Order: sequence, then C-alpha cells, then structure tokens
Amino acid sequence: MPIRLLPPEIANKIAAGEVVERPASVVKELVENALDAGATEVHVEARQGGRRLIRVTDNGSGIGSDEVELAFSRHATSKIATMEDLSAIRTLGFRGEALASIGAVARVSILTRAAGEEAGTFVRVEGGERTAREKRASPGGTIVTVENLFYNVPARLKFLKTDATEAAHMSNVVIRYAIAFPGVHFSLVRDGRLAFQSPGSGVLLDVLAKTLGASAVPQLLEVNPDDDPTLPPNAAVRVSGYVGVPSLHRSNRDQLMLFVNRRWVQDRSLAYAVIQAYHGMIPTRRNPVAIVLLEMDPANVDVNVHPTKSEVRFRNRSLVFGEVQRAVRRVLVSQSPVAQMRAGAGAAPAPGGGMERFRALSQLGFEAQRTADSEAAPPSAFPVPERPDPGARRLLPLRVLGQLGQMYIIAEGPDGLYLIDQHAAHERVMYERLMAQRAAAKVAAQQLLEPLTVELTPLQMNTLEETRDELASLGFETEPFGGETCLVRAVPAAITGEDVPTVLRDTLDELGQEPPPPVQGHRVTAVLACHGAIRAGCSLSMEEMRALVQELEQSEAPRTCPHGRPTVLHLSMGLLAREFGR
Ligand code: ADP
Ligand code: MG
Repeated sequence: MPIRLLPPEIANKIAAGEVVERPASVVKELVENALDAGATEVHVEARQGGRRLIRVTDNGSGIGSDEVELAFSRHATSKIATMEDLSAIRTLGFRGEALASIGAVARVSILTRAAGEEAGTFVRVEGGERTAREKRASPGGTIVTVENLFYNVPARLKFLKTDATEAAHMSNVVIRYAIAFPGVHFSLVRDGRLAFQSPGSGVLLDVLAKTLGASAVPQLLEVNPDDDPTLPPNAAVRVSGYVGVPSLHRSNRDQLMLFVNRRWVQDRSLAYAVIQAYHGMIPTRRNPVAIVLLEMDPANVDVNVHPTKSEVRFRNRSLVFGEVQRAVRRVLVSQSPVAQMRAGAGAAPAPGGGMERFRALSQLGFEAQRTADSEAAPPSAFPVPERPDPGARRLLPLRVLGQLGQMYIIAEGPDGLYLIDQHAAHERVMYERLMAQRAAAKVAAQQLLEPLTVELTPLQMNTLEETRDELASLGFETEPFGGETCLVRAVPAAITGEDVPTVLRDTLDELGQEPPPPVQGHRVTAVLACHGAIRAGCSLSMEEMRALVQELEQSEAPRTCPHGRPTVLHLSMGLLAREFGR
C-alpha cells in the first residue's frame, strides 16, 4: 500500500483513543477541567457505567461565549502559552486535547457562563462536528454532558467491561480528586443514586473518613512536614498525608495512593518506597494503607510523559523516593502503637494446636455448630480425610517426623527429607476443597451467633451490593445496613475464627477487581484459603500434621500454594550423600 495521510476524522479518533480509554477517563478529564477552573463544587453524574451518560457540573470560571468552539479544537488551551510554561506545569490539564478528544468519540454538549456574561452559551458537538449553538440561561460555571460514548468507535466499545466495573473506575477517579482537593465538595450520582460525596471542609481527614471508612481513621498516622524538625524549611520535597498503622494492611494497593502537586499519579517505584518504609512491620505480600501527598517545585517534575498524565518523571528521582521513605518511616517508628496480637494468630498457640485454637475461638462468638452441608468441611482446622486413593497421589507418601519452628513439617519420603510449609500446604488443601465446594454449589457456611456490623469503603460497599450472589456462593450472608455499613450473618466455614471484617474486606477488594466474576473466582477462593489456613507459629500434633500431609498428597497440585509459592522442599538422599562426602 502507498503511504497516505489519514483523513482527519480517523486521525482524530486515533488521537482521542490515547486520552479517552474508558468512561473513567472522561470523568477524569472533565473533573480536572473543573478543578483548573477553580470550582469549589464538582458534581458528577453517570448512567449505565458512563456509556449512556456522563455529566460534570462545576461552579468554576466558565468559558467565554466566543471561546467555546475553540475549547473543542485540538491543542487549544488557556493553561500554557510558551515552551517555558511546559517545563513548570501548575494546572492539571495543559495539552488542550481533552474536549477535542471527547468530542470526537461521543455526543457532547456544554452549557457554560463566564463571570460578567449575562446568558450562558450552549454548544453541541457530535463526532467532532458542531451541531448546535444557542444562548441559554445558566447558573454560571460549566456543565458538560457526554452521551453515547464510543458510539462511533465500535472497537473501543467492545473493550468496555461491565457497567459495575466501569462505574467502579469512575468512583475511583472522583474519590482520588476528592482526596487531593479536600476543600472542594464532590458528589457522584450513579444511575440516580448518590454513590459518594465529600464534605468539602478542607480537612483531608474528613475526606478519608468517607473514602477509607470511619473505622480506619483512628488507625491513621499523620505525616506532617511541619512536625519534622530535621526537614529544612526550603526542602525540595515536602511529604504529607496519612499512613495506616502497620496492622491495617491490605491485599492490594487500592488504598496506597500517591499525589504529586495534587495530581494523582501511578508510580510503582514510589509505591515501593512507601512499602519499604513498612519493611519488617507488615507481612510480605501485604500492602499498607497510605495517602501520600508530595509537594515540589513544578519545574522538578515532568507531567508531560503519558497521554493520561498519570505518570510523572522526577528530575531527582532518588531524592524524591528517599524523602518519601524517610517521611513515612519516621512517622511509623515514632508513632506506631505496639502491634496487637489477633486472636488465633498469636505466637504462643494454645496447647493442642488447631483443634484447641478452634475451640478457644468458638467461645469468642462463633458458633461451632455444623450447617447442613458442612460435612465437607467440618469446623476443624484439620479434618481427618478419607483413605487416600493411592492412584490419585501426585506426591509420594510421606512419613511425618516432626515440626520445625512451629512453621514447617519435617517428613521422610522414599528419596530423602521433605520440609513442608504448614501454611502454604494448608492453603493449597483449603483452596482445592473450597473450589470443589463451589463447583458443587455446596460451600459450607457458618452462621454467626450475633450478626456483625462491618464498615466498608464506598467502593467495597458498591462491590458488596453488586456481588451479593457471588458472596453468598462463597458462604458470606450479608446485607447493607445503611451508609457504608453492612451486616454479616454468616461466613464461609473455612474462615471460622478469623477476623471477619478483614476477610470480608479482602474478599470484596478481590471481587471488585477485573475481570468481573466468575472469572476471578479462583483468586477470591485463594484469599479465603489464605485467611483460613493454619499460620506459621502454630504448633501441631503429629496427628494433625499427618492429616494435613495426607490431604496435601491428594491435592491436584500439591507442590505449590494457590499463589504459586512452593509447599514442599526436598533434600534428596543423593544430595545428602554428596554434602556429607559419603
Ligand atoms: P486543557 O485542560 O488541557 O487546557 P481541555 O481540552 O480539557 O484542555 O480544555 C480546553 C480549554 O477549555 C481549557 O484550557 C479551558 O480554558 C477550557 N475549559 C474546559 N473545561 C472547562 C471548565 N469546566 N471550566 C472552565 N474552562 C474550561
Ligand atoms: Mg483539560
């Protein structure tokens, strides 16, 4: 084929695709425009996950009547004028691409009135063409309405996820800007229901109470550069925000948020700097809750790196990372409360191991009564399995010799010594048992003696409402209880004795991830298996160890836990002979 210039409508759609990936990108760009316009009220409305309609209303500066069409043309911006401006960006937007991009892939209308103008200006743009313009009454500020997103880009439309998933992404955007701008009152209405609202009080902690849940607030430690006597007043980077106490860890990084000059950024290594600050304080593979805000001279950070402006480049990377780590670590070391031992996770296990532990916990409010189909999973940490079918064994039969460090089972096999990680092995066993129960729609649930109220974040609450059937199939019986609180009546039998709020939150975090259920069923099951599995630090009787090893032998994939870590290490006779010089 010869080389040809693409017709402008195709070129525009390609360019738009860089900026507008999904409904949440539209929300992000429109909210950024409202904030850049100095709004103190930002109202976001969405229907059908944003594909039907997205509307952002602000009380900002508005656009002058003679500039509205210009705002929709590519590379038209009021925010930068010269090359120098580009090297010190102080606004959220600067490329003049968002409105043009949205206008190219949706039906957009704008009603705006700038200060000093009598009437507002209404303009409609469809597929990049202006199709209407008139004077209309307007309260001031700007209302942008985006309908039928991607109606003319079927390839993109196909890649959108479920309404619930797209809606969750939109909530995420609004929540992050509400955190970055505590003085702005945000509201988000989804399909006619108020999904989120920030107080606009100017107090970050008030927003965090709304986004992380009120129960998280007492567990947050303030990072305040003014409290740091070692920080020079002219420091190049100022780190502020709130970090969770180490016991408040999470399975994913949704609640580890980073902002640079009030811009939410995604930066793996910056996130890693925060996680490093918790080194030795939280379990490996868990993530802290941390809202970290960086302030620095805009000349020292390049935001013109990524089409969505969510990645940034620092002039002095290692200085920034060092400062983040130091600031967070300082607060953790000086303010962290002494770690509280959770019931059942104690370093000094009850005599008798698993069974004793279970009994002790059942007195803490859990009913040890079996439900109808709990035969498959009696409420013991280690049920004695039926005789294994020798043909089904994938692991050679092992003879248990003892326990090492309350962590590993020592066993002998036909070819040497085997060390079995008791947690990883039990995780594998529970995982397969749970998967089998789910496949048979027979997950053992356990009624709680008293329903438990659990506080959730708005996103978790949303997931709860959208995945109640899925939750029920896992053994959770829940119902919304007003606001961001839910009532838990039953939990999966497999996690009896665990900290129910934590397990529920982790499960919801997992369910809220893409891809939507039931594809990620195995990940949710892995979360439950991990919570329910016996921990390191629990001493086990010979009989319990034998039962566990026998069950492991019968597993489909006995050699790894559901996360892929090994369950068994093998020291062969050959290796031993070599090492001993025999
Ligand atoms: P950018 O934000 O990068 O400048 P946009 O395409 O998002 O590009 O917007 C183009 C211009 O339209 C902005 O520079 C701004 O002057 C104006 N504008 C857009 N949205 C608003 C709004 N909500 N309030 C006031 N002005 C706006
Ligand atoms: Mg913009």
